[in-house]
Amino acid sequence: MITRVKGTQDFLDVTLFNFIIQHATQQAELYQFKEIILPILEYTDLFQRSLGTETDVVNKEMFYIKTREEDESICLRPEATASIARAFIENGVDQLPWRVFTCGPMFRYERPQKGRYRQFNQISFEIIGAQSILHDVELIAMLDRLFTERIGINSHALLINFLGCAEDRAKYKELLYNYLKKNHFEELCPQCKERLEKNVMRVFDCKNAQCQLLFRKAPKITDHLCQPCAAEWEQVKEQLDFLSISYSHQDTLVRGLDYYSKTVFEFTSSHLGAQNAFCAGGRYDHLVAMLGGKTDQPAVGAALGIERLMLILEQIKDTLTMPQQKAIQVIIPVAKEQQPLALLIADELRANDMGVEVLLEGSIKSMMRKANKLGAAHALLIGEQEQQDKIITIKNMITGTEEKVAQANLVTHLKK
Ligand code: ATP
Ligand code: MG
Repeated sequence: MITRVKGTQDFLDVTLFNFIIQHATQQAELYQFKEIILPILEYTDLFQRSLGTETDVVNKEMFYIKTREEDESICLRPEATASIARAFIENGVDQLPWRVFTCGPMFRYERPQKGRYRQFNQISFEIIGAQSILHDVELIAMLDRLFTERIGINSHALLINFLGCAEDRAKYKELLYNYLKKNHFEELCPQCKERLEKNVMRVFDCKNAQCQLLFRKAPKITDHLCQPCAAEWEQVKEQLDFLSISYSHQDTLVRGLDYYSKTVFEFTSSHLGAQNAFCAGGRYDHLVAMLGGKTDQPAVGAALGIERLMLILEQIKDTLTMPQQKAIQVIIPVAKEQQPLALLIADELRANDMGVEVLLEGSIKSMMRKANKLGAAHALLIGEQEQQDKIITIKNMITGTEEKVAQANLVTHLKK
């Protein structure tokens, strides 16, 4: 048997998947985000330049595509922000702010486990040309309202941190480097020792409990912000309070990608276990220039992991207001001779926006059982007599009553 590729999933029931997309799309509309669709294939260079070569995503998790051109390096996109910034530059978008969202699969060569796959789906929201720090709060508010009010989950927490500007980070990196190197070098795990030398703030990505314990006492970036950044950080917190959005400040939150500056955030859930973040984002003021844009373009964005949100929703499915399923009509032609007529009648009902299934196999008894199983509102029986008299026998599957109706009146009758 040929199996699916490791770390991928088959979705045989897309109810929850679509539920999430539908609510996110409606929310995006309210907040004036326009949907775009971007390619899954991108040049590897796009992510190397933007995410940083020392990040796990670029270092270990990329899926490369083997093409016929030897000097061509293409990959399956691991995330959407860099692609959106590329599309912004390449298409010469000049209407600012550019508020867009996109849904689709991402690929990362990770160790598959619950909530962590090699192919997974994200919904990304981005605002490019977002100078004011209040854009960050509005984006966070949109997501918080999406989860709390629209979808209806209550097990989540919002973690935020503020990474300052490039100068703040340069100074802070030195401070952190010296602190860890002088006081705790021997206690760090081998990978953190390496991160320390290559890209010191990446140590915070470490999943090792002992390292995380050390980092708690390390200098905090929010204590070392320049005056304008410190004011913006205050503004973020005040505006979140003003909108009654609860959050906690987590000073080791740096996010796994190098392009972030200033605000970073994550939504986590106690329903998720180890992979507990289901949505994350932040500000990236220099990404557009890094990718070759003419000028820096202040921007902020977030990505929602659909599979992780699905894991949360599966546990609270009964409390969700799912869209009502359309009533279905099941047509049962008694013999082969009535099958063409059955399809003709089905055609007419569907043209009138009714959900119809025509049963073409099995005995009458088994077809009736099937209709029951499908949750049909009515079984519409067409035998020889019905065909001759141009009528139909309608069995109400809830009350069990039967009546005969002229085929010409069927639509009006069912719509009653
Ligand atoms: P993690 O710390 O769990 O590895 P991340 O920081 O790498 O997450 P992001 O790049 O911020 O994740 O992606 C945003 C969201 O996409 C995450 O919060 C998560 O919900 C989802 N996500 C990321 N990687 C995976 C994966 N391998 N499988 C499923 N969902 C994922
Ligand atoms: Mg990751």
